[in-house]
Amino acid sequence: MKNITLLFFVVLTLVACAKSPTGRSQFIIVGAEQMSKMGIESFDNMKQEQPVSTDKKLTAYVQCVADPILKVLPAEWQNDWEIVVFDSEQINAFALPGRKIGVYTGILQVTENADQLAAIVGHEVGHVIANHGAERVSQGTAAQKIAQGVSVLTKGSEYHKEISAGLGIGAQYGVLMPFSRLHESEADVLGLQYLMLAGYKPEESQKLWQNMAKVGGKRQMEILSTHPAPETRINNLGKHIKKYRAQGIKPLFKRAACSK
Ligand SMILES: [Zn+2]
Repeated sequence: MKNITLLFFVVLTLVACAKSPTGRSQFIIVGAEQMSKMGIESFDNMKQEQPVSTDKKLTAYVQCVADPILKVLPAEWQNDWEIVVFDSEQINAFALPGRKIGVYTGILQVTENADQLAAIVGHEVGHVIANHGAERVSQGTAAQKIAQGVSVLTKGSEYHKEISAGLGIGAQYGVLMPFSRLHESEADVLGLQYLMLAGYKPEESQKLWQNMAKVGGKRQMEILSTHPAPETRINNLGKHIKKYRAQGIKPLFKRAACSK
């Protein structure tokens, strides 16, 4: 009984504290440290199981495009990100807690310029900063187990499956599961802020989703989940571009000159 009471207060405290960067209240009952650990572990596995690009020029290009995005993040988020380019035709990209970013070569054939690639990086990083993975774990099976009086805060490895699901990684590494519509919209809005602050052209994010909708088809990808519909997404971005311009968001530095 004592343990359950204690757990109740731990949960209550964590829930009470959680707010996303856009000010949305979040139900989160899994620790940031545990999410990071799982993210890093998953990323290490992916690097072992999936071919990493040996194209140094291409990898340097992706790093060059991503750098300004990382530099405009909230201060505590700016450092220690690892970016890996995976050699795969999949049109995909992802970011994981523990500051890991994966970009598939397939997506580099869809992005027409650095601005569009930066829009993808901003979106994926937005998921991590808004703690969407932890929110999914909390909403999922792990939450039920907590309700039964079992703590995921202390028994990490037991919840490997739930946390993998929360990170958006399926049983087979590399199968990325779509986030909810709410999470997608929030990542879009955060990504757009980073894009504008980093000196990229925000309208390119709209063009990106237009292109993605064209090539997407039935191919599974995190960044093009079934919701929201491309038009909704593009309209929402347009609304926010106007809003941020009206608020006077200005680039913190000149647009990066990165060449492939
Ligand atoms: Zn997403």
